[in-house]
Amino acid sequence: MRSKIKKCKACNLYTLKEICPICEVTTSPTKPARFSPEDRYGRYRRALRQETR
Ligand SMILES: [Zn+2]
Repeated sequence: MRSKIKKCKACNLYTLKEICPICEVTTSPTKPARFSPEDRYGRYRRALRQETR
């Protein structure tokens, strides 16, 4: 099952529309719930940790 929720990368607004009502830019489909936006930072942090090891 796919989520229809999309996200604007410019203002981080979640919307169902293809175009952000605020920025008027194309929104991106959100990833599955397992891959939350916060995971991106966690992944970043993990990469940094490996580098500093
Ligand atoms: Zn926006």
